[in-house]
Amino acid sequence: MLIDSYERVVDYLRVSVTERCNFRCQYCMPEKPFTWVPKENLLTFEELFEFIKIAIDEGVKKIRITGGEPLLREGLDNFVKMIYDYEASIDLAMTTNAYLLKGTAQKLRDAGLKRINVSIDTLKPEVAQAIAGKDVLKNVLEGVDEALKVGLKVKVNMVPMKGMNADEITDVLEYSKERGMSIRFIEYMENRYASKAISGMKSKELLDILAQKYEFEDEGFDGSSPSHYYVMQDGYRFGIIEPYGDDFCKQCNRIRLTAEGQLIPCLYFDEAMSISEAIKRGDIKGAALVLKEVVRTKPEKNRWGGEEGESSERAFYETGG
Ligand code: SAM
Ligand code: SF4
Repeated sequence: MLIDSYERVVDYLRVSVTERCNFRCQYCMPEKPFTWVPKENLLTFEELFEFIKIAIDEGVKKIRITGGEPLLREGLDNFVKMIYDYEASIDLAMTTNAYLLKGTAQKLRDAGLKRINVSIDTLKPEVAQAIAGKDVLKNVLEGVDEALKVGLKVKVNMVPMKGMNADEITDVLEYSKERGMSIRFIEYMENRYASKAISGMKSKELLDILAQKYEFEDEGFDGSSPSHYYVMQDGYRFGIIEPYGDDFCKQCNRIRLTAEGQLIPCLYFDEAMSISEAIKRGDIKGAALVLKEVVRTKPEKNRWGGEEGESSERAFYETGG
């Protein structure tokens, strides 16, 4: 079992398979980055899988594939199948913008994917275009329908922003609820790659808007999920991710692997160690040592908004959010 220096069990690995993306979301990657990581620096799916096997053997029980946009990487269903065939009980999930999901959902489901989180910030085509930099909404909504049809469990992520999609908070909640999908509102996290024009919303502001239409109760945190949950009178639950909150890190159980092989103990820290060399030379023990060291050095709390600065230098599209 992997246990960090603050007695937290680390059993969740997020794997970013590419930093590249077909969207240019205002809060994440408004401009195409000046340079991409050269393709030859990326770990192959076989190499990522070698590390994943080590992580599973050490106690990881949940794996989320993310990016950039993970569906841009060819052969993703084979990668999912490799993991599923190694350990079918792994809670295997993916975070995606859903643009390419329509043609791939069935293959991913067949390969062993269980759940997806989809970013839906708006239900208005023109707002989707303003956020993502292109006309994306039709494909996204069709992708979500397809995912539900093939039996994937779907969770919706929405980043509410003033003057952009703040007036759609209850609409996106209703859209999710009608389809049996849970929703999490993610507080916009400042970062130096985002558009300077964004004005995010804090959980208090979101709750004030939701309270105009619904009655709900505060359920607090649930296990190691980063969401603060609320339950409405009809039993529907929604979550808010509040990275600035004091309780956010207490139950953190996750580490992150980038497509280049950087293993990151906390989203908001620059510190990381590479597993790339050890994996490329087939040094399983060496890679396992890096894993244990990264878990050992996992910080107690993120540096979000702290004295050290507002966030890490690393972009969300590199770490996978
Ligand atoms: N491309 C996929 C997607 O958009 O779902 C996966 C990667 S994306 C980096 C993962 C999550 O990070 C998305 O739900 C996105 O909304 C969230 N995200 C990105 N930048 C963010 C920011 N500045 N503040 C809050 N959430 C952010
Ligand atoms: Fe791409 Fe996801 Fe970032 Fe949007 S949030 S630019 S879809 S990686």
